[in-house]
Amino acid sequence: MSVPFLRLQAGWDELAQPLAEALLRVGASGWYIGGPELDAFEHAFAEYTGARHCVGVANGLDALSLALLALGVGPGDEVIVPSNTYIATWLAVTHIGATVRPVEPCPTTWNLDPDRVEAAIGPRTKAILPVHLYGLAADLPALQAIAERHGLALLDDAAQAHGVRVGGRRVGAGTSASAWSFYPSKNLGALGDAGAVTTDDDRVADAVRVRRNYGSRVKYHNEVTGVNSRLDPIQAAALRVKLPVLDAWNDRRVAQAGRYLQGIADLDLETPTVLADTEPVWHLFPVLCADRDGLARALAARGVETLIHYPVAPHLQPAYAHLGWGPGTFPLAERIHAHELSLPIGPHLALSDIDTVVDALRALVPRR
Ligand SMILES: *Cc1c(COP(=O)(O)O)cnc(C)c1O
Repeated sequence: MSVPFLRLQAGWDELAQPLAEALLRVGASGWYIGGPELDAFEHAFAEYTGARHCVGVANGLDALSLALLALGVGPGDEVIVPSNTYIATWLAVTHIGATVRPVEPCPTTWNLDPDRVEAAIGPRTKAILPVHLYGLAADLPALQAIAERHGLALLDDAAQAHGVRVGGRRVGAGTSASAWSFYPSKNLGALGDAGAVTTDDDRVADAVRVRRNYGSRVKYHNEVTGVNSRLDPIQAAALRVKLPVLDAWNDRRVAQAGRYLQGIADLDLETPTVLADTEPVWHLFPVLCADRDGLARALAARGVETLIHYPVAPHLQPAYAHLGWGPGTFPLAERIHAHELSLPIGPHLALSDIDTVVDALRALVPRR
């Protein structure tokens, strides 16, 4: 491949020495669960997001489900989720025994449509769970107003949104809670699985802290039926090395996205609209194209690797067949899932790589 989708190992190469030192420090410390590395990362990430609290957990899926439980969501409750998202958003809701109430996206931003959210609220609705999909902010001010009007929790899935700004402030503070994944390919990625919940609410932070550790505050005394979902100190140490370069790495993505937007503006491809007064971090660079699979094959033949995020909408997955939602139930989500193609983007691609992709697209895609 002349332009690979992702160069994860280049992230190690750039920071090899401080990362290796961090791993050795944990190994030599004797602290293999919890301890000073975890505390230090939690403190640093809370400061980065502007939230009062950060609680590290094992992965992004647990961050979502533990945050929901901490917000008092449980069996019998309904949670409004986007019809177009990575399936983890839905799984977090159904794993805790609550019900998903999918709502279609705004056709231009591809993120949860506040007008449709308001119409979907019913007597059992307990929370709204927007996703900042692809690293573009959901309409938090509008969703916050709706949540306040109806007395609902607002939990944002920020797994693709490290560093996204809304109204000049980073996401992660200001909602009821935010759930984070540090899966290796995310904008802030660990060397394995990791996640966190950030919140300004003392009680929510405390509830996640207790639940991630077997429901126990004092060893061998269990207040609730918790789980084992602790953020590994090795991952915390690696994340502490990577957090200081996050903004610089995001800047590279923003520059690459700008290059794409300029280079393909006259082509017959759709890109998502960035909401006014928000700053995206382009976790992915998605386009919608008429013949998605044909374009992916033609780009591969020219050495450009692409991926699809995501090929099947959650409601059409066999995992959710029992909910009884067939094709046509959520047409906006289905359209995005049928036509979406993700172009290479990331801190370890060069602008010349982006130019290579743009040249290939200009040779393959008709003008508008
Ligand atoms: C990655 C991701 C998750 C889940 O994170 P894991 O750490 O893989 O469990 C949840 N939601 C979204 C939108 C994601 O992209």
